[in-house]
Amino acid sequence: MFSHPIAAIVPLCALAITAVPVLADGPFYGDAPDATHPWTVHDMNRPQPPRVIPGTFSTPEQPGRPPSDAVVLFDGSPAMLDKWEADKVPAEPTRWVVKDGAMQCVPGSGYIRTKQQFGDCQLHVEWAAPATVEGNSQGRGNSGIFLMGQTEVQVLDNYDNPTYADGFAGSVYGVNPPHANALRGPGEWQIYDIIFRRPIFKDGKLLDSGRFTVMINGVVVQDSTPLEGGGGHKGRSNDRPMPDAGPLKLQDHGNPVRYRNIWYRPLPARAVDGGDMGVMAPEAATAKKQELAKSIREDAAKLQGLGKLRRQMESLCYAPDDATSKEVQDGITAWIATVPPAPAAAMEARKGEILQMRDAVNYLMRFKFLPDGFTAKPAIDKIVQDNGWK
Ligand code: MG
Repeated sequence: MFSHPIAAIVPLCALAITAVPVLADGPFYGDAPDATHPWTVHDMNRPQPPRVIPGTFSTPEQPGRPPSDAVVLFDGSPAMLDKWEADKVPAEPTRWVVKDGAMQCVPGSGYIRTKQQFGDCQLHVEWAAPATVEGNSQGRGNSGIFLMGQTEVQVLDNYDNPTYADGFAGSVYGVNPPHANALRGPGEWQIYDIIFRRPIFKDGKLLDSGRFTVMINGVVVQDSTPLEGGGGHKGRSNDRPMPDAGPLKLQDHGNPVRYRNIWYRPLPARAVDGGDMGVMAPEAATAKKQELAKSIREDAAKLQGLGKLRRQMESLCYAPDDATSKEVQDGITAWIATVPPAPAAAMEARKGEILQMRDAVNYLMRFKFLPDGFTAKPAIDKIVQDNGWK
């Protein structure tokens, strides 16, 4: 959130180098990078989020539309069955059928799996148990959603059907019951939204157990539940490595459960998995900071004058560099020489530029990117003081 009052009144075109004090969307604003955070707080060098055109929400009556970057695995059309196969070796076409816009389990035909393999994801699945109630406990409207073919989010008609809690609809099967029973009745469409993170091991050491977040019909029923190895039937599992990707599998548990509107979005890599999302390991943060400093210095090399100087100053926030630091200190000292005592009106014209430099120097000294005794600071402070500026 922008909170700097100047940001509200200075038009965007004023972001050029010369005329305004420190801005919420400029450098020297939020706290500097540190050992595990390669970015400043509110860093404009951090990439902008990619544009995604949102979809529409599903209702029990009508499936919604996926967001623009979703990978659609089933949209109701019979042709989409080509994206799936029987979960057998060697692979063979599935005997599940598409009827009235839904993909339906044919009991006894076996699990079904996507030909596509993927790992960490936001997954959207809608399912409906048979409207005619048959069986009870685990025998009623049972199917399952297996992420990477490894770990099951339970699909079960539990509308009015007690069973063991860690096998309930929305459970991470054998690991954790859902926080709530938010199911609609038998035959009605249930909407699952799942955020899946696979386990991360490095050199045999567990860095992240992996996690499930699950919403049933908009109600959170799993909140970053650790996988603990992925669970299973009867056996307690322990953290274990999993592949980077695998097929999505849907279970044939002997009930003609229907599915519609299945899509996923891959999720960005976590810092522990080589990405830049979250707190980084110090070595990775250092590498990212060096990459940023290099890029900013290359940009500075294309500029002249104050623009160049300010970009060089900015680069010091990410990685120290003796040559750049000396150029910056010499550059600021030379800049002060361009600010001679002048009539008040002339000084007023440069007020924004001078205050901006004062704030940038204060920032770099506060975070130790310029030496404590930097001699230009008292001179800048004196100019500000002599003119009665805050
Ligand atoms: Mg199941």
